[in-house]
Amino acid sequence: MNAHILVVEDNPDNSKLVSWILEDEGYDVTCVESGERCLALLEKADYDLILMDISLPGISGKEVTRRIRQIPRLQKLPILALTAHAIEAEQQSILSSGVDDLLTKPINDDQLVKVIQRYIGT
Ligand SMILES: [Mg+2]
Repeated sequence: MNAHILVVEDNPDNSKLVSWILEDEGYDVTCVESGERCLALLEKADYDLILMDISLPGISGKEVTRRIRQIPRLQKLPILALTAHAIEAEQQSILSSGVDDLLTKPINDDQLVKVIQRYIGT
């Protein structure tokens, strides 16, 4: 069975790009456009990794991550943050929300795939 990645991203162009890259690598991909939808899906299904945009309408990616980490069965679920913030202090704040790693936009295909493979392999 393919690993299943949940992509939380409100920009449809970014979702499409990320899905295309990941499906090409053989992953199954589900996209949602908000943190609220992400939390709702996590109640019903299991995923192997989450790609989390930080800047979302409604609750932020940081807050979604904090809430996920409060759920015992999801404490070890790999979460990779995607952010356009290059500022060090903001990156520290994102990492302290409980994400495993942080990728900066624009998305680099090779970098994205390498980091995902580090957490779940192919
Ligand atoms: Mg966004």
